[in-house]
Amino acid sequence: MGRVGLIGGTFDPIHNGHVLLAQFALEKIPLNRILFIPAADPPHKDCVYVSASARMQMVSLAVADMESVFVSKIELDRSGKSFTVDTLRQLCEQNPNDSYYLIIGDDNVSQISSWHDPEGIFELCTVVVGNRTITDRVGKKQFLDQMTLLNTPLFELSSTEIRQRLITGRSVKGMIPESVESYIREQGLYGTCRRKVLHTE
Ligand code: ATP
Repeated sequence: MGRVGLIGGTFDPIHNGHVLLAQFALEKIPLNRILFIPAADPPHKDCVYVSASARMQMVSLAVADMESVFVSKIELDRSGKSFTVDTLRQLCEQNPNDSYYLIIGDDNVSQISSWHDPEGIFELCTVVVGNRTITDRVGKKQFLDQMTLLNTPLFELSSTEIRQRLITGRSVKGMIPESVESYIREQGLYGTCRRKVLHTE
């Protein structure tokens, strides 16, 4: 039986805001483990910039040296839109003795009522909110009342900003894990040039 945190997202790419959210949630809630769950087909995003397998690979690299933090393929293995409520149902069926904590950044507080079956989400897990912006959290009172606020340090960074920095050749040092940056450059993702691999014998 365990207390399991879930962080769903597009992770296009994963950045240190996601990593810090996981680290603080693990300690503050506290949790036995956290699963990052990359969405195959995120319902609220118009487009994704790299393949689901590349996003999955970047999350795997980011969590490789984190204790008790893992990545789950559950949404990549499912067809159709990646609805959080379906993921929760599947996890609860697979591990009925675990309790689930859905960890979101506060930009999602006002969004959650527009997610597929929000009542179902609140029935199946505890929704925990990390700080992301300094603006007031607004949302449907019915759902706000059911959310647990987590006082995490502000790390105002987004995947959008990382993509913009990469495409314009600016540094992303300290903003994404080094292993993720190496992968992006090796694969030539987000407008970076594919790095030549030199074979010397
Ligand atoms: P994009 O800029 O492409 O919209 P994003 O940075 O918001 O992407 P997502 O993959 O959509 O990244 O986010 C997944 C989850 O992580 C969401 O719940 C989001 O609120 C949360 N999150 C993202 N960035 C941060 C951050 N800097 N601090 C706290 N939470 C964050």
